[in-house]
Amino acid sequence: MPAPCASCGAPVRKRRRRYCEACLPQARKERGLRAIAIARKALAAQAAAGEDPRSASHTNAKRSAAIAEAHRQNREWRRAHGKAQGRDHAWFLREIAPKLEAFSLSELAEATGLSLAACSRFRAGARVPHPRHWEAIMRLTQKR
Ligand SMILES: [Zn+2]
Repeated sequence: MPAPCASCGAPVRKRRRRYCEACLPQARKERGLRAIAIARKALAAQAAAGEDPRSASHTNAKRSAAIAEAHRQNREWRRAHGKAQGRDHAWFLREIAPKLEAFSLSELAEATGLSLAACSRFRAGARVPHPRHWEAIMRLTQKR
């Protein structure tokens, strides 16, 4: 004797099926929707866990906040100072960058508040730090 369909109670002809042929498409659709709902819940739980300092999303949020803050400070500096007179990237690379060899990355990082990675790039002459850092760097170079 065939088992009844879990939905309509009609006899199910195929073995191990819970639904009859008529109800199967709808049952599959509902199972799909349930799977989507479960996935959404899992994502929401992950997002809620974003408070966890171990989670990547927390680190990324902190990182993008730090980047946004640096950009804001750059804009503010630009508004207050305009273009530095006679001092441009070429000037920095010519006059300042060669003197930085004498300083450790941590000395540069302490003087500028920039990351060791950023200091490494501008000490190598691979990048020029934003002009708002130039004064601090010049103060440092005058110490030696
Ligand atoms: Zn059915």
